[in-house]
Amino acid sequence: MNPLLLQNGRLIDPASGRDTITDLLVIDGRIADPTLLPTLSTPPETIDCTGLVIAPGLIDLHVHLREPGQSAKETIATGTRAAAAGGFTSVVCMPNTSPAVDNPSVVTWILEKARNEAVVNVFPTGAITKGLAGEELAPIGSMHKAGIVALTDDGRCVQNHEVMRRALEYASMFGLVVMDHCQDYNLVGEGVMHEGRVSAELGLPGWPAIGEEIIVQRNAMLAGLTGTPIHCQHLSSGGSVHLLREARARGIPLSGEVCPHHIALTDESIRSFDTNFKMNPPLRTRRDIELLLGGIADGTITVLASDHAPHCHYEKEVEFDQAPFGILGLETELGLFLDILVHQKRVIDLPRLIAMLTIEPARLLGLDRGTLAIGAHADITLINPGLEWTVNREAGASKSRNTPFHGREIKGRAVRTIVGGRTVWCI
Ligand SMILES: [Zn+2]
Repeated sequence: MNPLLLQNGRLIDPASGRDTITDLLVIDGRIADPTLLPTLSTPPETIDCTGLVIAPGLIDLHVHLREPGQSAKETIATGTRAAAAGGFTSVVCMPNTSPAVDNPSVVTWILEKARNEAVVNVFPTGAITKGLAGEELAPIGSMHKAGIVALTDDGRCVQNHEVMRRALEYASMFGLVVMDHCQDYNLVGEGVMHEGRVSAELGLPGWPAIGEEIIVQRNAMLAGLTGTPIHCQHLSSGGSVHLLREARARGIPLSGEVCPHHIALTDESIRSFDTNFKMNPPLRTRRDIELLLGGIADGTITVLASDHAPHCHYEKEVEFDQAPFGILGLETELGLFLDILVHQKRVIDLPRLIAMLTIEPARLLGLDRGTLAIGAHADITLINPGLEWTVNREAGASKSRNTPFHGREIKGRAVRTIVGGRTVWCI
């Protein structure tokens, strides 16, 4: 592989606090010391980065790649191409596949398939409980040995607090974080959208915010008791932000993530009965968005993620209450976060946005990524923060088309994605 020289870009590396116009040298798939440039025997391939941001490769720690078993929706090949097209060099994939990732052989299968077919790094998670049934713990130690980076029953939520407590105790023996999809089954029942005025008017069963908040609070108490970190996935409710802030102020190892749709859209969208607005947890209110933005602004929320959840066209082409939960995310994620958080609402600046998509998720899960330090893997995302574009679902790299953002005008996107020194996607 020829050396690579990225020239004259705005290098933003939140891990080291660097934010400067400079060149970046890559040798043998690693970030290299720039003083080595005159000593190279072959001249480097050069890329002019004038006007672009050179960021560490983006990491999305909440992605459904759907393999094994659901390859009609997405595959490791197509899902990682969608990631590359969105500027992501690493994805953490969820274990609710068929079969579920609840034993080491499925972990090995995913890693093997990723080695052959993925264009970005794939880090698998393992289920907390066998079959994600919430009853019996999965073999956490052997899955850790096989290469999982975290535990989660995402899509489902362990309801039995004693089982969750034991999972946390086991997880701490291996230094694993437990990630949780926060949903109390009794409170949520058959809910398909936010419980409020709109659900009452439409006559659709409601998914109340307290169904999420009560599990966030449960997690705060169990993380406090066991000392094991819990990461609350896709927070949708303003009340959850309040509980998370309070727990963190007391030193409890609790963290949370926010997805683009929960700050871009409200339950008003569901008046169209378009199933591309149906996800779990559901779109909530303007007030919830304000509180989520407040949590991002003050550092209560530390991670941004997509919850990329592809579904086939025919699965979503049914009545609203029958449709599966979930929407695409990887290809619109960076643009939506840039547009909403940095350009429109000015909630955070560009370096903080990049931190929340790189070093924050890397530190949380102990991934050896997310920085442009000398010697680090040369995973790099070039971003044009001012580029205006329109989402076109037909042009997507994902196998599925279930996005609610088709036709939306967005400011900012990745223009080149580099994994291990090799360009895997560019505009
Ligand atoms: Zn989930």
